[in-house]
Amino acid sequence: MNKKIYNFSAGPAMLPEAVLKEVKNDFLNWNNIGTSIIEISHRSKEFHKIIVKSKQYLRELLNISDEYAILFCQGGARAQFSAIPMNLLNQFNCADYIDSGYWSYNAMLEAKKYCFPNHITVKKNIDGQTTIIKMKQWPIQSQSDYIHYCPNETIEGIAIYEEPNFHNKVVVGDFSSSLLSRKININKYDLIYASAQKNLGPSGITIVILKKILLKNSYPFTPSILDYKKSFDFDSMFNTPVTFSWYIISLVLKWVKNQGGIDFFENMNYKKSSLLYQTIDNSNFYINTVHPDNRSCMNITFHLRDPNLNHIFLKQSYESGLKFLQGHKVVGGFRASIYNAMPMSGVKKLIEFMKNFEYKFK
Ligand SMILES: *Cc1c(COP(=O)(O)O)cnc(C)c1O
Repeated sequence: MNKKIYNFSAGPAMLPEAVLKEVKNDFLNWNNIGTSIIEISHRSKEFHKIIVKSKQYLRELLNISDEYAILFCQGGARAQFSAIPMNLLNQFNCADYIDSGYWSYNAMLEAKKYCFPNHITVKKNIDGQTTIIKMKQWPIQSQSDYIHYCPNETIEGIAIYEEPNFHNKVVVGDFSSSLLSRKININKYDLIYASAQKNLGPSGITIVILKKILLKNSYPFTPSILDYKKSFDFDSMFNTPVTFSWYIISLVLKWVKNQGGIDFFENMNYKKSSLLYQTIDNSNFYINTVHPDNRSCMNITFHLRDPNLNHIFLKQSYESGLKFLQGHKVVGGFRASIYNAMPMSGVKKLIEFMKNFEYKFK
């Protein structure tokens, strides 16, 4: 077994080693300017290059046209749970909230403070498997200002791979744990957002990509830092941004591009997750009850058939260098978060551990 440590944390999560090394070098003397990257002004021409580059990489990687603005916001994805209703509610004071798990449900709870959300549950248990009903069957209201959904439920490991096709509806997607993990057609969305600490960088920044035509009528009580129009007008610097996180995100984006872009990662993520799901499905020892069509390729959740072994599984995996496999407390069990930065070697090491553990304890 290789001795390397692998970090399966759901977020903040593992970053590419190459990026961490670059950060280490830049920390004391960035670009030979004799100061640390974290000591320079967000308004300096040096930092401006990072801002320009990071947007340029995002536009290239995701094929984002000029019709869209890119904002770098603070307060995590949860701040967006508030910003979205405040900025997008319009004539109906109502929005469709698709509930496929913990995060989409929580977005709906927050929106309740500002409007009357239609709570639409799309998660069904069919023959013991969690299945997401097809988008065509989602009971979207005609009198709602937007649809909100989450294509990757980080906690349950549930994914929605279909892309939205709701005529004339503003579609909002929480891509916090899936942006850059696979190809998406950005034009199918009006606004997507992702907090960085899963697949994009360290915590502190949330990327918001939205159609410029949406930059207009926020509610009058909207705090300025949550106002998209203001954020756009100030180039995401109405207040001081988290410069260190922004800089690291720009390095991660460059790394994604250099590895081969989203095509490369989509393929890798499919391979990594398939191997893990096969290991689970081929055993009588581990279980995952999500329907194969809706299994996440970023967060692989599983339980042991004998929960009395949970404690020892966690302890032994940790000691073997497989860190932070504990599932979120609302679902229990285990979760292997295998974002873009997780190499195939980490997944193989986990599989080897799981097979040995099963052999010893079954
Ligand atoms: C982590 C996560 C959030 C919450 O992000 P914060 O930055 O902690 O607010 C919301 N949605 C999804 C899908 C997530 O994975």
